[in-house]
Amino acid sequence: MSFENFNFDEKINAGVKACGYDVPTPIQTEAIPEVVKGRDIMGLAQTGTGKTAAFVLPMLQKLMTGPRRKPRAVIVAPTRELAEQINENIRELGRQTGLRSVVVYGGVGKGGQLQKFRSGVEIIVACPGRLLDHLDSRALRLDTVEMLVLDEADMMFDMGFMPAIKRLIKYMPKSRQNLLFSATMPAAIRSLADQILVDPVTVQVNHSKPADTVSHVLIRVEQKGKTTLLKSLMKETKMETTLVFTRTKYKAKNLAVTLQKNGYQAVALQGNMSQNKRKEAMDGFRQGKYNVLVATDIAARGIDVSGISHVINFDVPDTVEAYTHRIGRTGRAQCSGEAITFAGGEDISFIKQVESRLNSKMVSRVVKTAGGSTSANQSGQNKENSSPRQERERKNTGNNSRRPNPKAPSTRGKSFAAAHTDATERKTTNNNERSGRPASEARPNKPRRGRRSAPLGVDFLPKARRRGQNSSAQSRTES
Ligand code: AMP
Repeated sequence: MSFENFNFDEKINAGVKACGYDVPTPIQTEAIPEVVKGRDIMGLAQTGTGKTAAFVLPMLQKLMTGPRRKPRAVIVAPTRELAEQINENIRELGRQTGLRSVVVYGGVGKGGQLQKFRSGVEIIVACPGRLLDHLDSRALRLDTVEMLVLDEADMMFDMGFMPAIKRLIKYMPKSRQNLLFSATMPAAIRSLADQILVDPVTVQVNHSKPADTVSHVLIRVEQKGKTTLLKSLMKETKMETTLVFTRTKYKAKNLAVTLQKNGYQAVALQGNMSQNKRKEAMDGFRQGKYNVLVATDIAARGIDVSGISHVINFDVPDTVEAYTHRIGRTGRAQCSGEAITFAGGEDISFIKQVESRLNSKMVSRVVKTAGGSTSANQSGQNKENSSPRQERERKNTGNNSRRPNPKAPSTRGKSFAAAHTDATERKTTNNNERSGRPASEARPNKPRRGRRSAPLGVDFLPKARRRGQNSSAQSRTES
């Protein structure tokens, strides 16, 4: 299969060539002919599969004929960074087409966006909130729209954008082509698809399975040991470009400052920053000014930075899907990458779910920390949760293993569906969701006092694999 097979306009082929695309990716091969035919699409594809071009190229083809300088296609995306990236793709692929696009999101003045509407655009790439603002204030009309793309629909649902999406669809003509892309297919997305897609073709590529080029490493550590561990890890491991994920904006900001003080070219990316600062951080990370980006989940989706050698889950995410998205930032375009997860006792059941999705165990790793001691719980111990008697017994017997707490929740033996339900439940009971705060920028739930963690003595690896785990993990760090 080659791009010639799609019979695109020569001006579009020129864009494909300029981007250096030789052969279409699987999602492009599957989706493009259907989109060209005018079919609605339900696209299930993980990030990094080339799905942006899968909808941008046939969109450009469609827009080559018909009226100009009227909004004819709308692409809705969850984050400003993703919207910018899609717009950049449109600019590159459509450079010779004369078609115009505008990117629309909040956090910046409206003036530039209004100016672009006035001068006439065919494609609008937008985050839902600001687009709705323009529509409600009648600064923009979408009654000439022929094509709607909802990208990363499941993330938009997670971020609470579904009501806004349903409302902005009402501003468009009923008869239009709809493309819905989502990395996962929770019930809410299935229901949205049922509502808006007409006789859709489903295209699915590697649904929600992390790239095979990523190795998954687990380091057991309790919360208070994480910063020390991170510093030690960064010292002992050759990390070229590293993306660190924290649960909160506050932690992302502080951790970036700590790393800067320790001599790293680190920068934060979190939702409290102004759009200019976010852009500066993202551009600086892309261009190599910073080699460590400390981010909340805002950076987990869709962001395309080549050559990220390491993704570190400083805090585990809320769901297995979010894990897939985070680690999807490394191992892109067939490069190898390493995803390292810091997990405390309370994260054990989550790790089991991830392993179930990966269909393999994570590689446990031990890291020497600054004080000469190894990272917390590296040998499967959780001293914070040991009774003094247990501690004494362990010292006396030299026994480092810990028996699982029979009362602790476990997903052992659970089906994936059951494990997945646990994650979903955990998420919906999150205080932040109840307060309406977007999940990606959530504050952590307060630690529940007196709650005992799940045991850390659970063995993640068969003995044979645990031996030599260090060397195998280390050897995969090169990208
Ligand atoms: P996406 O999944 O849309 O974020 O794309 C991931 C990366 O793959 C981007 O850097 C694209 O420019 C690149 N890409 C998309 N299609 C192709 C292709 N056919 N050949 C090579 N690279 C591609």
